Amino acid sequence: MRPDALARQIEADKRAGLVPCFVCATVGTTSSNAMDPIADIAQVCHQHNLWLHLDAAMSGTAALCPEFRHLQNGVELADSYNFNPHKWMFTNFDCNCFWVADRKALIQTLSILPEYLRNQATESGAVIDYRDWHIQLGRRFRSLKLWFVIRHYGVEGLQHHIRRHVELAQQFAEWVRNDKNFELAAPAPLNLVCFRHKAGDAANQTIMDRLNRSGDLFLTHTKLKGKLTLRLCVGQTNTEAKHVERAWQRIREEAERLTSAP
Ligand SMILES: *Cc1c(COP(=O)(O)O)cnc(C)c1O
Repeated sequence: MRPDALARQIEADKRAGLVPCFVCATVGTTSSNAMDPIADIAQVCHQHNLWLHLDAAMSGTAALCPEFRHLQNGVELADSYNFNPHKWMFTNFDCNCFWVADRKALIQTLSILPEYLRNQATESGAVIDYRDWHIQLGRRFRSLKLWFVIRHYGVEGLQHHIRRHVELAQQFAEWVRNDKNFELAAPAPLNLVCFRHKAGDAANQTIMDRLNRSGDLFLTHTKLKGKLTLRLCVGQTNTEAKHVERAWQRIREEAERLTSAP
């Protein structure tokens, strides 16, 4: 997201009689893991009194490690923040963590208090009723499984795996960079590598289809600047160097088949 384009759009909306109220910036976009400039976006939001939400679904986990926290510089300026332990923190689907800087607006919007929900614990302020923080009333006990994950790995264990995943992805990016047939399609700040074969969309589609049919690995794709782009992500509990090495070997095998097969 470009802060100057955001500011221009907000002003155009206001001139057109619309009322902008919410901006969502992303720490690691789904498609290419792009990082939005949060502090500059926050400044635009504050000028116009807009709620700023940060979507850090996958990459937010990296903030466990101090050396990756700069990727979300300005996070303290956001009104709300979310990341998904079910994506890159070894927790079974589904489990998202949501923070809000000031809970009042949220509760004023969503709270309901019919007679049958009135109780002493709520009235005395002894408990937080999370039913007032979201649309539905009931919730599963997701925090229990997250608690077990955190207890099992500890902060240091979690950091160890996150660092390892980033290292493996960076190693993969290095192999791509040094191969004359492949290129990186976007910067790879963490554990997602967007890359492509230089022969064009049809070649990349063939490589991906054959790999995914083989069952040896699973790649997803996106389009960057109009070009088909392959995506390799390292983030699963048991992924090790040998898996990433094997993935790169299989990718190169399929690339060679492109030119050798009739
Ligand atoms: C995966 C992803 C989502 C979707 O998250 P869910 O909570 O699983 O629906 C949203 N935003 C980004 C940036 C993502 O990568």
